[in-house]
Amino acid sequence: MSGDLPSSCDLLVIGSGAGGLASAVTAAVLGLDVVVIEKARHFGGTTAWSGGWMWLPRNPLARAAGIDEDEATIRTYLRHELGEGYDEAFVTMLLEQGPRMVEFFRRESAVDFIDGNLMPDFHGNTPGAGTGGRSLCAKPFDGRELGARLHDLRPPLAEIAPFGMNIASGADLQHFLHATRRLPSFLRVLRRLARHFVDRASHGRGLHLVNGNALVARLLKSADDLGIALFKDTAAAELLRDGERIGGAVVEREGQRRTIQATRGVVLATGGFPHDLARKSALFPHAPTGREHWSAAPCSNTGDGLRLGEAAGGHVRTDLRHAGAWAPVSLVPKPGGEPGRFPHLVERAKPGALMVRRDGKRFCNEADSYHDVMQALLAATPAGEPAEAWLLCDHAFLRRYGLGRVRPRPFPIRPWLGNGYLKRGTTIAELASACGIDAAGLAGTLDTYNAAAAAGRDPEFHRGETPYNRIQGAADNQPNPCVAPLGPGPFYAVRIVPGSLGTFAGLKTDAQARVLDDHDAPIPGLYAVGNDMSSMMAGRYPAGGITLGPAMTFGYVAAHHAGGIPLANNRS
Ligand SMILES: Cc1cc2nc3c(=O)[nH]c(=O)nc-3n(C[C@H](O)[C@H](O)[C@H](O)COP(=O)(O)OP(=O)(O)OC[C@H]3O[C@@H](n4cnc5c(N)ncnc54)[C@H](O)[C@@H]3O)c2cc1C
Repeated sequence: MSGDLPSSCDLLVIGSGAGGLASAVTAAVLGLDVVVIEKARHFGGTTAWSGGWMWLPRNPLARAAGIDEDEATIRTYLRHELGEGYDEAFVTMLLEQGPRMVEFFRRESAVDFIDGNLMPDFHGNTPGAGTGGRSLCAKPFDGRELGARLHDLRPPLAEIAPFGMNIASGADLQHFLHATRRLPSFLRVLRRLARHFVDRASHGRGLHLVNGNALVARLLKSADDLGIALFKDTAAAELLRDGERIGGAVVEREGQRRTIQATRGVVLATGGFPHDLARKSALFPHAPTGREHWSAAPCSNTGDGLRLGEAAGGHVRTDLRHAGAWAPVSLVPKPGGEPGRFPHLVERAKPGALMVRRDGKRFCNEADSYHDVMQALLAATPAGEPAEAWLLCDHAFLRRYGLGRVRPRPFPIRPWLGNGYLKRGTTIAELASACGIDAAGLAGTLDTYNAAAAAGRDPEFHRGETPYNRIQGAADNQPNPCVAPLGPGPFYAVRIVPGSLGTFAGLKTDAQARVLDDHDAPIPGLYAVGNDMSSMMAGRYPAGGITLGPAMTFGYVAAHHAGGIPLANNRS
């Protein structure tokens, strides 16, 4: 439903990622009259570009598969991971309401999930770490079911989606990586591509939606089914007070300012501050002007929700371990425009990719999580130097796994050499010179690494020694899925700069997602969810999906609170 902006509703939701749409759909199921406004031309925000993984321990799909974890084990993991940032109230809310949220959405809406029963937590050596069953992903979705709404859905992130086609992690990705080596994979990829091109010809975009695109599509379908009023190209500019309460917002649409009253309150869900230069400069120590940091989130996420919350008396937490969800990013040249940002989430862990700084030395276990790798780069960079590294590999690796935006065989590599994205050297010394890396340092690094790699070992950084490392590696590379020697040449590299998948620092809330004032009292009628709510993980990153799992859960929680419906008495 869209049409004219209404002048009032029960609940006004600002932003249409996972946090906003989960709040909206829940509230509508509970009987509230809901309006969602979205500043961008498309709905879905960063969520639509994401992997769609949600960290939700003890979820119903895991339990149905016989993974019935003790809550105490999960708490042990979080206590060790979050340290002084562990907050009992938030952890209890996630563990109790996360599974209920999943049941609620499966029962009441078009949202459905696939299991992550093989997906380990990031830090396998931490007590209580899970080896699977703590996460879920959105179930693939047929875009046809969205009808005309399909064209309002943010398309997948171009940098990581070949021809605009998202590839799901797990079996789908494995087939793509083996397409030139195994007939069944080749045939499956051929079918996927053929269907994608037919869909593009008939509908202007792919229809087999996976990952975060499927999550948003399912939420949008649910919103439409429930009659939620959805407005794109509409930005919140100011919050309105109704006595002590926040009672609506002034919004901007087509150059006009309009007022929407909201009797039950307002949910801030604008996706944090990935493109707010001032806030990045204040909270990212490696980005003194904010421009030294390259977020992979959409440019419409400019920190509006945080500013609106502050103007209403809320405050942004500055005490997190890290203010962002760091990720190594390479900059993809685009004629006449800002470079694209390629987040390196997959290929770093494959056997035979190394990361070095300009001294030619490794600084991390490349198979660790994106956040850990970036954290290691920031820690290894001497003060005054730009944080930058090179991700390098040999020819066989490049053609098998690809490197950043350079896709594997049969995609051509010449354009990427031509535009300078990909550097090449027949020898390691030549590659070092092309990248400005210390040649002797790099040669020494390769000698040391290769000597142990031949036996599948990495004594320096222990690649492949945790379940998370191994699942990210290549199962057919034994004895260590993450370790293989490099060579012979030619060799290739792409430059890595500091980036992120989203931001962690946000408005301080309580565990009901109510925004708190300077005295830690809730501001009546004001909620913050998704990345507008300060991360309950306190700037740590224990597992994939720790933004979307809480975003969905606290959206569900906020809607119950706004509707005056106690969680314990809900229908799940
Ligand atoms: C490539 C990639 C992969 C990722 N994979 C995962 C994953 O698998 N699991 C995971 O947990 N996290 C993942 N993330 C991170 C995750 O996507 C984000 O943290 C999450 O989507 C944020 O959700 P959100 O609802 O807070 O905001 P968003 O999804 O970003 O939505 C916010 C929306 O608010 C809109 N908005 C901004 N200002 C206004 C305004 N003034 N008025 C109205 N609307 C406004 C924006 O335009 C945007 O559409 C990934 C990120 C990337 C880039």
